[in-house]
Amino acid sequence: MVAGTMRTWKVGDVEVTRLVEVNAHTDPLSVLLKEGSPELMKKYPWLFPHFATPEGDMKISFQCFVVKAGRRRIMIDTCIGNDRRRVYDIFTNMHTTFLEDLARAGFPPETIDTVLCTHMHFDHVGWNTHLVNGKWVPTFPNARYLFSRKEWNHWKKHPRDGSVEAQHLEDSIQPVLDAGLVEFVKTDYRICKEIRLEPSPGHTPGHVHVHIASRGKKAVITGDLMHHPVQFAVPDLLTNFCMDAKKACRTRRAFIRKYENRKALIIGTHFCDPTAGWILRDKTNWRFSIT
Ligand SMILES: [Zn+2]
Repeated sequence: MVAGTMRTWKVGDVEVTRLVEVNAHTDPLSVLLKEGSPELMKKYPWLFPHFATPEGDMKISFQCFVVKAGRRRIMIDTCIGNDRRRVYDIFTNMHTTFLEDLARAGFPPETIDTVLCTHMHFDHVGWNTHLVNGKWVPTFPNARYLFSRKEWNHWKKHPRDGSVEAQHLEDSIQPVLDAGLVEFVKTDYRICKEIRLEPSPGHTPGHVHVHIASRGKKAVITGDLMHHPVQFAVPDLLTNFCMDAKKACRTRRAFIRKYENRKALIIGTHFCDPTAGWILRDKTNWRFSIT
């Protein structure tokens, strides 16, 4: 993990801890949004300096969250993972200290009782497994791995042709299926008293985000229903990564309306530090506020 990047939030009695695997990666906004540009980014000064470079490129992180609720230790998404063959060079054969960092943060893999992947893209399922003596084995041997049934119904039809696009199914999903650790759930499944899923289709067909409520406090972990805070200002701009980009826009807009004006702390799965904040609405538009 990048030094000094661990962060914890309290939501009533629930604790959410962030572990960063890739910190503040930069790319042109057009990599994410078809109509993205530095000019668009610069229209929204509140994006600077946390979420944009001075030049107007986007900054995004790859990270996961461990949620502590009573005795439960629930891992939300599992990042990219080491030793992978992936479409993108920078995510191929990574060698990070992710598992050591997780243990150092107080969560050795065997203490995790539940893993929830918001969807089945490679950067959300990677540490489901790790390589031991040349074989992919489940990283969290005592966990139930929860996947949305709808999501799997899509991915199970994906051709397993040895292509690099299908690699994450082979190395990060199939081994936990083979180990009998998977439970397929509905997109509104309740994990425990404080934590439930909400459906957010569009980015992928069975995408979910995570709702946390405890003692009158609320928070949401977004998954990829949005990737960058600029999408609060321009929720209807099509992305390059969503399977049904129009539906993803409708989902995003409904989500923003539902949680606008501080109805829940928004914890953005790809949002750079400080990662969490509130949706504020003024007369003309929405924005993301970290205070
Ligand atoms: Zn992602």
